[in-house]
Amino acid sequence: MSVKDSKTQLGLVYLSFRNQIPSSHKMAGVYIHIPFCRKICHYCDFYRVTAVADAPVYVRALIKEMELRADYLEGEPVETIYFGGGTPTVMDALWLKELLQAISEYHIVADNCEITLEANPDDLTDDYLRSIRKSTPVNRLSIGIQSFHNHELQLMNRRHTAEEAYDCIERAYRHGFTNISADLIYGMPGSTTDGLHDNLDRMFALDIQHLSAYHITIEPKTEFYRMVEKGMLIPVTEEESLAQFRTLIERLRQRGFIHYELSNWAREGYFSKHNTNYWKRKLYLGLGPSSHSYNRISRQWNVSDITIYMKALETGFLPFEKENLDPVKRFNEHLLTLLRTMWGVDLKEIGETYGAEVSERLLKSSEKYVRSGHIQLNGETIMLTDEGYFISDAIVRNLMMDD
Ligand code: SF4
Repeated sequence: MSVKDSKTQLGLVYLSFRNQIPSSHKMAGVYIHIPFCRKICHYCDFYRVTAVADAPVYVRALIKEMELRADYLEGEPVETIYFGGGTPTVMDALWLKELLQAISEYHIVADNCEITLEANPDDLTDDYLRSIRKSTPVNRLSIGIQSFHNHELQLMNRRHTAEEAYDCIERAYRHGFTNISADLIYGMPGSTTDGLHDNLDRMFALDIQHLSAYHITIEPKTEFYRMVEKGMLIPVTEEESLAQFRTLIERLRQRGFIHYELSNWAREGYFSKHNTNYWKRKLYLGLGPSSHSYNRISRQWNVSDITIYMKALETGFLPFEKENLDPVKRFNEHLLTLLRTMWGVDLKEIGETYGAEVSERLLKSSEKYVRSGHIQLNGETIMLTDEGYFISDAIVRNLMMDD
């Protein structure tokens, strides 16, 4: 099937999914950061610490934060809960259970709440999976596979091997998990499209429902950055990056996956509700050091230091910074989050929210991208085409308003 044909067919799929999660219904999300890692990956610039702190003390601090911020979600029911990291699977299931119980004391939790646990493959032993199933209502796993090639995993300094990556997914199925997402890193130094084909073949053999695929980025203060500076690591060329992204789009589409956001693909019914709610700008409460929260009028982020965080909460105080969102900032965020999704940006909604002149300006600035085939105008909605996804950063920057 040519790319052109498949794009036309996909257009129908896009339409039928456009309103899968209506933006009008009021639901909120809770994110809990578990910043502990036993080993630091060479590309990582997330907030994490190598010391695995005393779990009871950290859980107590998180619950104190929940108590202090019990009103943050304005009574909106919690539709999604996400344990992210760091490595949440270094925490015993009973601590996760305690945190979930505390959430339900301070918030209304929807019956069908999506509860995701980010997992490291080598933590997913039979015992651990059994205890998660027995003690918690976790119903979605997001597993940091990253690659099925040992040489890439070693270069990344991941804790697991390719065999462990493969086995843990099979094991998770055996323990009754039916909603499994895998993370994959592509565009690694030295990688090729052939290698990516092989990684995808292995993913497909495991029949996962959701894939998040991220191009490696060489961030300052990471080991990879130092290796590139010293000439020990050579990033792939832009052509190779594009070839790999095209490979992802085409292979996943052939397999029936829906490309619902720049870096996310899923089978029907398996979109990440939690991330979709971020992109649709629903309220979310982020707990733990470095976590971000959003309540439509402001964004705030906790101190990125677990020691300061825990000490402050012992005295009933939460250290955080906050940014109020004026209409220009809100518009820019709206564009940034939704344009990279299959739902696109609804010009009518932009007009109603920010004024007709903003909507007209956006339509006018988009016209050159419509002509060049990077943006598609679908009724009153603008959305990126596959070609547009390749240069999405530049397009979004260009369409944003000046602060
Ligand atoms: S496991 Fe995740 S958070 Fe921890 S070092 Fe690796 S990439 Fe960073």
